[in-house]
Amino acid sequence: MIKEKFDAIVVGAGMSGNAAAYTMASHGLKVLQLERGEYPGSKNVQGAILYANMLEKIIPDFRDDAPLERHLVEQRLWVMDDTSHTGLHYRSDDFNEAKPNRYTIIRAQFDKWFSRKVREAGATVLCETTVTELVRDAKDKVVGVRTDRAGGEIFADVVILAEGVCGLLGTRAGLREIPKPRSVALAVKEMHFLPEEVIEQRFGLKAGEGCVVEAVGTISRNMAGLGFLYTNKESISLGIGCLVSDFAAMMESPYVVLDALKNHPSIRPLIAGSEVKEYAAHLIPEGGYRAIPQLFGDGWVVVGDAAQLNNAVHREGSNLAMTSGRIAAEAIMQVKTRKRPMTKQNLVLYKTMLEKSFVIKDLKKYKDMPALLHTNSQNFFTTYPQLMSKAAQNFVRVDGIPKIDKEKATTAAVIKARSRLGLVSDLVRLAFAWR
Ligand SMILES: Cc1cc2nc3c(=O)[nH]c(=O)nc-3n(C[C@H](O)[C@H](O)[C@H](O)COP(=O)(O)OP(=O)(O)OC[C@H]3O[C@@H](n4cnc5c(N)ncnc54)[C@H](O)[C@@H]3O)c2cc1C
Repeated sequence: MIKEKFDAIVVGAGMSGNAAAYTMASHGLKVLQLERGEYPGSKNVQGAILYANMLEKIIPDFRDDAPLERHLVEQRLWVMDDTSHTGLHYRSDDFNEAKPNRYTIIRAQFDKWFSRKVREAGATVLCETTVTELVRDAKDKVVGVRTDRAGGEIFADVVILAEGVCGLLGTRAGLREIPKPRSVALAVKEMHFLPEEVIEQRFGLKAGEGCVVEAVGTISRNMAGLGFLYTNKESISLGIGCLVSDFAAMMESPYVVLDALKNHPSIRPLIAGSEVKEYAAHLIPEGGYRAIPQLFGDGWVVVGDAAQLNNAVHREGSNLAMTSGRIAAEAIMQVKTRKRPMTKQNLVLYKTMLEKSFVIKDLKKYKDMPALLHTNSQNFFTTYPQLMSKAAQNFVRVDGIPKIDKEKATTAAVIKARSRLGLVSDLVRLAFAWR
């Protein structure tokens, strides 16, 4: 197939793979990137919020030509029961800055743009090519890959596994375990198309501004899950993700849950009259710090979702993917500059550098959160949202019932729903996990 040897082979052309390939190619390394999809982005799903800072560190002037939808000026967090939402909204004109902090993007377009940058930087990018196996030498060091194309093996000093959450290549090679159903969420998402001005009117936005709604509560039907709605230029991305183990235990179907979200009285008017043109489903790593596998070995490193580097508590993934891809590339370049072999002993540098970054520091800080939310999902995603709605309604409804009686009724509902001790223990555990 390809006779020459590369400095690095990157498996996957998602956020992490593109970040790694671009960084290495733009510093003169001979890079081959292999992507199984018809084009970069054809297999990729995201909400999607792009965090500008992490891309700026790779392509400082990305705003000049990247396909960006809206810059975000408002974030809404809704706690929902079946008929209501209690909201925390944050909106600031500060986000109308010269270089906005967050944008909505459409991954199919964005990944194509990113891949063009990778090619322009000098990397060879081959699509419709699935890497089927890692090639090892007599000492078990990874020295290349086999693909589904005829022609055998391709060799490189190092292979970067940027193959996404399932990471079949790495799991088949025994580099890490298949992610457990309790540490991955299955998210389903639809694209609802509406005229630009209708979106702006419904969300109170000026041209180019965007709004995000993230929602928890009875919408996830007793499962640990999150609903999301992101405004693009002429479309709204609407979706919901819940733990795979919860889907299995509750015998729920993702599309039924998404349909219920679409029909919620707080969501329905926001998408009314829209035309649905796309439907997608994808896994999200949710295990946090404790789910991170071995990150490097003889001749290989793993980055992005394949390394489970996803901060589910803050709903961040692509920024961790880009940063881990960039840092892996920088570590590889340092090893190469020192004229050292790409062995486990030398590639530990990638882990050391990653540990100093926000990626591992953030995941470590919230290391107990995933387990807490996942094991108490009925409390956090059903009981407490229902109580919050009841308390809010008691507060705002004026009906001649003395306030003291209403407060007693709210307290009684809390006690009935959950013993005092249970509530206190949930709150204490939450506070400890968040500290
Ligand atoms: C519904 C949803 C909403 C999300 N919203 C957000 C958000 O708003 N903001 C955010 O920051 N993150 C979000 N994320 C997370 C984000 O999408 C991921 O963290 C990010 O895409 C990970 O990038 P990656 O490069 O590691 O993997 P991916 O983007 O999944 O890329 C992996 C690539 O590898 C290719 N590949 C796999 N196996 C092979 C093989 N054997 N050979 C060749 N190619 C292969 C795939 O085709 C794919 O192109 C969301 C995720 C989902 C599912």
